[in-house]
Amino acid sequence: MSIQIEPIKAFTDNYIWAVHDGRHCVIVDPGEASGALDFLERHELSLCGLMLTHHHHDHVGGVDEIRARHDAPAWGPDDRRMPKNLQVVSEDQQVTIEELDLTFKVMETPGHTTSHIAFFGHGLLFCGDTLFSAGCGRLFEGTPAQMQHSIDKFAALPDSTRVYCAHEYTESNCNFARQVEPRNAALAERCNRVEELRRRDRITLPSTIGAEKAFNPFMRTRESAVVKAAQLREPDQADSPEGVFGVIRRWKDAA
Ligand SMILES: [Zn+2]
Repeated sequence: MSIQIEPIKAFTDNYIWAVHDGRHCVIVDPGEASGALDFLERHELSLCGLMLTHHHHDHVGGVDEIRARHDAPAWGPDDRRMPKNLQVVSEDQQVTIEELDLTFKVMETPGHTTSHIAFFGHGLLFCGDTLFSAGCGRLFEGTPAQMQHSIDKFAALPDSTRVYCAHEYTESNCNFARQVEPRNAALAERCNRVEELRRRDRITLPSTIGAEKAFNPFMRTRESAVVKAAQLREPDQADSPEGVFGVIRRWKDAA
């Protein structure tokens, strides 16, 4: 079997991603254990690792319970708030999962938290809470300039890169993005499609980097329509990409 990537739903709107070949499995951001353990059992998969993007409970809350049942390494950022017995990884280091013949490169992407990382490889991006479809993570610990820089790193990946975000926030993000860019045709099309999917309780992910560049306002802070919208909102703040980013992020937080 080739590599499959499947979402495991958790809490109200989290996705835990399972990457497997029908025998071995690596799990990304298990915020709770039960769904992930059930998934492994139901598909008779052997766990060969956990990839962790940041310390928030809804991303790592299931780690200890899963590792009590499965002997598997966990990779994550250098942060004392992360689970114990972690293989700490940093920018440009590689995570190799021999059982699946996969290697992911670590990207440091501060903004949502100071130590947030993402995993990229084989055309797949596991971006945690840094990038969402049509949106981005809240700036709990970082600055707009840090988050702009993190998202610029994603923008430099191939357009075909599939983006596996950790939450189903796309519909509300679309509603906000439309306020920023009411005349963006790609955005209107994405919003319509997302509404249709959500009406049937279907997942809106993965997205792609190319698609997000066309409609995600946080990847479009150099586009004139987004710059203009930010200037109208906060005239003296929107004088640079990170300035525009900050304005749009504050606007979203207030929406
Ligand atoms: Zn988070």
